[in-house]
Amino acid sequence: MIVVMSYGATENEIESVLVRLERSGFQIHLSRGVERTIIGAIGDKTRIGDIGLEAMPGVEKVVPILQPYKLASRTFQEEGTVIRVGDIEIGGETVHVIAGPCAVENREQLLTTARLVREAGATMLRGGAFKPRTSPYSFQGLEEEGLKLLAEARQETGLLVVTEIMDARTLPMVAEYADILQIGARNMQNFFLLKEVAKVDKPVILKRGLSATVEEWLMAAEYIMSGGNYNIILCERGIRSFESYTRNTLDLTAVAVVKHLSHLPVIVDPSHAIGKWRFVPVMARSAVAAGADGLLVEVHPNPSEALCDGQQSLTPGNFAAMMSDLKRVAEAVGRKM
Ligand code: PEP
Ligand code: MN
Repeated sequence: MIVVMSYGATENEIESVLVRLERSGFQIHLSRGVERTIIGAIGDKTRIGDIGLEAMPGVEKVVPILQPYKLASRTFQEEGTVIRVGDIEIGGETVHVIAGPCAVENREQLLTTARLVREAGATMLRGGAFKPRTSPYSFQGLEEEGLKLLAEARQETGLLVVTEIMDARTLPMVAEYADILQIGARNMQNFFLLKEVAKVDKPVILKRGLSATVEEWLMAAEYIMSGGNYNIILCERGIRSFESYTRNTLDLTAVAVVKHLSHLPVIVDPSHAIGKWRFVPVMARSAVAAGADGLLVEVHPNPSEALCDGQQSLTPGNFAAMMSDLKRVAEAVGRKM
């Protein structure tokens, strides 16, 4: 970090800062300018909070120079992480597509969707059994019954199961059925939940919060990694903007930026990002072109009857058409599908 002393800071003030830093184990690099003094300090930045530098007389600001996330950063691990689950590799050459309904509604709906998305080339099945709905009056999910249906669909189709975990109290139950746990946008900074999934031996899809910066998102990943679970898949799902025509604004810049800053795989959820089924395929193609390692797409056999997010769900027919177009985009950018 760099400690910038105020204009006119006294010798005593500078000396006190140096002593404080040295006592805390920092290595000091001092630059005495004509106008002000700048102190470069190298050491364990997690200790800055403890040593209260910003409150010391004569200190103007403390500028961290290391990224606050470490385990998630490319500085920590240069090569991209490849997550192996079942016989699938996420973050490798192949772009994987996770597809399925927003919510598990009944056996018929889930099994029909699972068969059709598998036929079209999806390798994983999504479906919420616990739904984070904006309104308490909306359908909240089938809970354990939904998880059992997901397990049945896996048994029949071989698709791996991705489902959202909303509350640490249900973690043992959800982890028993899911192959990959999903942390939803609304829970990205539920630090208690992050610490709990860190203890589970299952990969985690960490969705970007509704208004989270890339740094906040990577810090959320850092919570899970620092707790011992390194198998994190980041998922860009659109952020809040001034635009109201679409549900959110798909931030494809984040895909490029996060792939530069972090070694973790990044997938894109065009369904929640744009919120209108008509535009899902074009955003899915754009995401693959931008370097996404996978997609998370909502598909429903009968979107107009869906209990959740029908307006953004593709029919199985539209999904199959999207998949064949995607293959060509993937090949064009040197990936497989
Ligand atoms: C979902 O994937 O069903 C979901 C609720 O997404 P998000 O958390 O991104 O809103
Ligand atoms: Mn949804």
